[in-house]
Amino acid sequence: MDHFTYKNGELYAEDVPLSRIADEVGTPVYVYSRATLERHARVFREGLAPVAQATRREPLVAFAVKSNPNLAVLRVLSRAGCGADVVSGGELVRAMTAGVPADKIVFSGVGKTRAELQLGLDRQIGQFNIESSEEGRELAELAASQGRVAQATLRINPDVDAKTHEKISTGRAENKFGIPLVRAREVFGELAALEGLNLRGVAVHIGSQLLDLEPLETAFAKVGQLVADLRADGHTITHVDLGGGLGVTYKDGEVPPTPAEYGAMVARATVGWDVHLTFEPGRVIAGNAGVLLTRVVRVKRGGNGPPFVIVDAAMNDLARPAMYGAWHDFDAVMPTGERMVANIVGPICETGDTFATDREVDALQSGELAVFRTAGAYGATMASSYNSRGFVPEVLVDGEQFAVVADRIPADAIMDAERVPDFLLDD
Ligand SMILES: *Cc1c(COP(=O)(O)O)cnc(C)c1O
Repeated sequence: MDHFTYKNGELYAEDVPLSRIADEVGTPVYVYSRATLERHARVFREGLAPVAQATRREPLVAFAVKSNPNLAVLRVLSRAGCGADVVSGGELVRAMTAGVPADKIVFSGVGKTRAELQLGLDRQIGQFNIESSEEGRELAELAASQGRVAQATLRINPDVDAKTHEKISTGRAENKFGIPLVRAREVFGELAALEGLNLRGVAVHIGSQLLDLEPLETAFAKVGQLVADLRADGHTITHVDLGGGLGVTYKDGEVPPTPAEYGAMVARATVGWDVHLTFEPGRVIAGNAGVLLTRVVRVKRGGNGPPFVIVDAAMNDLARPAMYGAWHDFDAVMPTGERMVANIVGPICETGDTFATDREVDALQSGELAVFRTAGAYGATMASSYNSRGFVPEVLVDGEQFAVVADRIPADAIMDAERVPDFLLDD
């Protein structure tokens, strides 16, 4: 459930008509709803109530910053009790700038540089999720040389097919992430012996936009077996990080598991583990909390197929359709009730700049406003300046008020960072 609803025939974000945001900020623009973010964070936490009860510990919900790293969004979620799962030094600094306490920060990622490991140590973050024996040794050596101890888990690759888009599947043997399960005990034993590292558990994350709990449950069962094996090897296991991945509805008929169903499954899968659990949800918190608001540039007719509705948003602003073939619902801000079949495209000079093909949508004319729904996760953060288009701004709505929480970065500001070197100047 979200707070983007029609009132008197016009689409609102909470109590703000989207047309007002378009008038004041311009289009395209991402619009987020604070109430929706807070609601999703609350519902996710409530879904985990059986887990909290069974383990007698409140789990850490570390929002996956990569899904929406906007400072204001992170601030909302931090105030709602979330920690942060970060995958780069840049995200780490963002999370802390937004007010996430260091001890609620988890650092994931297969390619943390030495400088990023050092940053995590300097900021005294809560947990490093180590993805290779090489990374673990480097972190241990850094920490030990400074008289510090890094809190860490070992990320394993359970070789489970998450049954999602191949570009966002992360838990199969051929993916780059984690340590193969068959090597996990050996690597754990090697790293646990190192000074500078408190290797205290295991982490897993098998992929994103999961619509089925079964692959997760299979992966968690493997984690449970590994925890038992590691304990049998004499290790003290106090923490397990179960990652993110819960899907959202992009399209009618797609029914992801609810947080309550997810929580019940986790409670079942983790019986007797006796550990602190961490979760890393991204999309399920932020996805439906944002839309991309756009204006129709013109409607081009007269080709072979349906008309092209050309909007002022493009694949550089919202990459998911071009990148993953993803579906985003497309709705008029002021629908007339009439419908049309159209191709929805952006202005970029590439056929991949297509949001929808041969789709029945609200009838639209040049100058009218529309939204791409479910654009709050993996939206603005994946933007580029391709075709010398600027970076799209972001707005956060809170009841009747809204604020620009990321400025539009115009194309000429990007150009300002470039220069023609002396040796190319005419003499
Ligand atoms: C991307 C990612 C997540 C978040 O995935 P969602 O599908 O957005 O919940 C969590 N953990 C790790 C390690 C990730 O890479």
